[in-house]
Amino acid sequence: MNHPSPEQPADVVARLRATFRTGRTKPLDRRTDQLRRLRALLTEKGPDLAAALHADLGKSATEAHRTEIDFTVREIDHTLARLADWLRPEPAPDPAHLGADARAWTQYDPLGVVLVIAPWNYPAQLLLAPLVGALAAGNAVVAKPSELAPATSAALARLLPEYLDTDAVAVVEGGVPETTALLGQRFDHVFYTGNGTVGRIVMRAAAEHLTPVTLELGGKSPAFVDRGVDLDVVADRLARGKFLNAGQTCVAPDYVLTDPATAAALEPALARAVEALYGSDPRTCGEYGRIVDERHFDRLTGLLGSGRVVVGGDSDRAQKFIAPTVLADVDPESPVMREEIFGPILPIVTVSGLDEAIDFVNDRDKPLALYVFSESDGTRARIAAETSSGGLGYGLPLAHLTVSDLPFGGVGESGMGSYHGRYSIETFSHRKAVLDKPLS
Ligand code: NAD
Repeated sequence: MNHPSPEQPADVVARLRATFRTGRTKPLDRRTDQLRRLRALLTEKGPDLAAALHADLGKSATEAHRTEIDFTVREIDHTLARLADWLRPEPAPDPAHLGADARAWTQYDPLGVVLVIAPWNYPAQLLLAPLVGALAAGNAVVAKPSELAPATSAALARLLPEYLDTDAVAVVEGGVPETTALLGQRFDHVFYTGNGTVGRIVMRAAAEHLTPVTLELGGKSPAFVDRGVDLDVVADRLARGKFLNAGQTCVAPDYVLTDPATAAALEPALARAVEALYGSDPRTCGEYGRIVDERHFDRLTGLLGSGRVVVGGDSDRAQKFIAPTVLADVDPESPVMREEIFGPILPIVTVSGLDEAIDFVNDRDKPLALYVFSESDGTRARIAAETSSGGLGYGLPLAHLTVSDLPFGGVGESGMGSYHGRYSIETFSHRKAVLDKPLS
């Protein structure tokens, strides 16, 4: 299943470092050329990638394009249209204490050789979107796809060398041994997306070389539903955000927090929304995905007993199918509330109101995303001011991560650093301080 590169990790990094030292990756036109080639890969080989995503996760072609292929194309287009502007040196106010002729500015330097480690849930997007930023910033890149999405990993390992400069971009496939070997090398930045346990391993390994890291992690992202909102709209948006990719989305609403009366009305609204999206038998719905492997399937089915089933609840191990499921009467201490769910199970937890909801969030790890469904400016403002999360979404789950002008990343247990658009340039560059004092 794994296809370790025949080249040793030290040799891969040395080869890429030699390329970087020639300066080849730095000129603007060379960066844009590589981005255009990556764009061509996505448009010409989109069907190959979509087939691989279907094999790995049962993703429909529509979903594969929307959340992985076209998503990355949009990120490339956003970057191509603005890169020259972003890279322009930025003047600082004249440093008058050094004389009237002194000038100061900042400029971006590429870091060198960057390692990108991707997870299995959006295995193309989460390898390629960081790659876009790393290339746009002028780096050489070692890209490590997830072994848990083997078809996508193989497709990327085959296609990226067809389109990109193989002396500046290397794909290394494999699992723990291969990644461990890579992490033993000196990189100039490590960009990791996945879980916090491995995030700690990555950060420890990077510390040996004083290599900076970006950690794009996960956690339980809450959705607070205020009283008095249109629950059909809320249920539709919650269900779309939760059950996309069968719930295996880092920013999926993990659980709902609401008061008991709103919960009672939200339950049938969610049941209607699930049926409207996936029909009465989601197993036969081509738009509904599958669980990545048996280990996650067994973990998730073990969580189904944590509450009263409002809708869904059935599963089929042979197909790695778990129905879109809503659980009510969920105890905050039950298993489903003790870990990131990362699957198609949406628990509803009741609180007395806003104060308790804010305390509930603040008593737990800082989430990657926090969603608020409220018409009250006061409620919206209080949640923004009194909680901390990687991103905050009013009214629409997931969507903030599709806005390339916004930084995407976590805080605390949900990660450190961010990327997308110009924030990728910040992440994959060094902002160099320059002072110029003329000699005469
Ligand atoms: P995963 O198992 O595919 O692991 C991610 C990467 O880590 C893989 O490339 C894998 O080979 C590597 N890896 C695994 N064990 C390792 C080890 N011991 N040493 C070195 N490398 C190792 O994916 P996952 O961690 O199961 O992904 C799910 C998690 O990722 C969830 O918590 C989810 O919320 C989070 N996530 C976050 C984002 C984000 O953008 N913030 C996006 C997607 C997923």
